[in-house]
Amino acid sequence: MGHVFRTEQQALALDSLSRFLKAEVEPLYWHDYRDTFVPKEKLLPVTQQLAEFGLVSGVVSEEYGGLGADWLTNAMLFEEVAFTSCDLALLVLINSFGAYMLEKLASEALLERYLPGLVNGSRFVSIAISEPDVGSNVVEIKARARSTGENYVLSGEKTWISNGAYSDVLICTCRTSDEPRGGLTHFLLDRSEHPYEVQNIKKVALNSQSTAQVFLPEIVVPAHNMLGEKGEGLRNTLALFERSRVFVALCAVGIARRALHEAVHYAQERVQRGKKIAGHQLISAMLAEMATQVDAARLLCYRAAQMIEADLSAEMEAAMAKYFACEAAVKVTRQAVQIHGGNGVTTDFMVEKLAREALILPIPEGTSQIQQLIIGRALTGVNAL
Ligand SMILES: Cc1cc2nc3c(=O)[nH]c(=O)nc-3n(C[C@H](O)[C@H](O)[C@H](O)COP(=O)(O)OP(=O)(O)OC[C@H]3O[C@@H](n4cnc5c(N)ncnc54)[C@H](O)[C@@H]3O)c2cc1C
Repeated sequence: MGHVFRTEQQALALDSLSRFLKAEVEPLYWHDYRDTFVPKEKLLPVTQQLAEFGLVSGVVSEEYGGLGADWLTNAMLFEEVAFTSCDLALLVLINSFGAYMLEKLASEALLERYLPGLVNGSRFVSIAISEPDVGSNVVEIKARARSTGENYVLSGEKTWISNGAYSDVLICTCRTSDEPRGGLTHFLLDRSEHPYEVQNIKKVALNSQSTAQVFLPEIVVPAHNMLGEKGEGLRNTLALFERSRVFVALCAVGIARRALHEAVHYAQERVQRGKKIAGHQLISAMLAEMATQVDAARLLCYRAAQMIEADLSAEMEAAMAKYFACEAAVKVTRQAVQIHGGNGVTTDFMVEKLAREALILPIPEGTSQIQQLIIGRALTGVNAL
């Protein structure tokens, strides 16, 4: 891997985090629960310890009990989790951005009640936007929130909701009026008081975490559980995407970095035609291409994180990071399988699982095609979306 500039503090934090991940997380996700759902009771000690390293807590300001780390440091810490487990990284990502949304949008009463548990890793959140007929086009959301005065009645169905099965809290985007762009509003649902129904979805990979359908069968939620202003849901979602896309891209960087790490190790050990396969020029070329892709993806992510930290608009740069890193992870993991030969398609090695995980990442938080359209719009000023 190419050189990364880090402060002494960042280097120390990453070193202790990666030792913890190797000792506590890798056995859980790669041995005990490889490809199967990790129960919440196994997860809680991990998320609580991660909070001490700055995961989730890092994106929340000190005023609200977080560590208030800068976005580049948060990005570096998060990438390290993804290097060990993309399942766990996705869970941390959603909890982080759920906590971030609460800090930005919730009333003091909701903040006091829900933010501490998210910051210390003892409670989990889901963010529900997508629906069976609504993916790339968020403005078509159909789930309804009907006002009855003091309450809203929520009805509809959400799908692909990360953390669904684990969630204690759901941040749900619903339609409060027929106006496409100005008719969306966020609500906070507490699973113990507003029992939304959850059904896990089985996928090609990332089954050690939860991606779920969420059903809203006429759920009564107090009006004071609204997050942000009525009708501001789309604006707040788009602002969130600029940040969260960089973290999905970092999931891809983590996967690709791990695949490269495994491939380098394998190429140094495996002997064919009397020499280590690293000594075959075509293997060396593949490794060089993989390493360059990984570094380019990583640097795009770090640039977007630094722009966010500097309060600059990073819509195009976040889209570039998401697009490039997720497509790079697909290519790099495929090459890692190829370098492993037959061993690469067995469950005795990591790379087959990394390749399956990489396939998923160009889809959530805006597909690769949507990122291309965002980049194109930023370049030309013409909206092809
Ligand atoms: C693992 C996983 C986790 C997820 N987590 C969450 C979550 O926590 N919360 C949540 O709300 N959602 C979540 N999602 C949903 C995700 O955001 C959507 O799947 C994504 O936005 C794409 O929507 P879709 O699947 O409906 O595909 P569609 O929008 O139907 O797209 C199908 C194809 O058409 C293309 N396409 C669509 N529109 C256009 C266009 N205008 N121009 C060109 N091509 C286009 C797409 O690129 C894609 O190739 C998750 C998805 C996955 C797979």
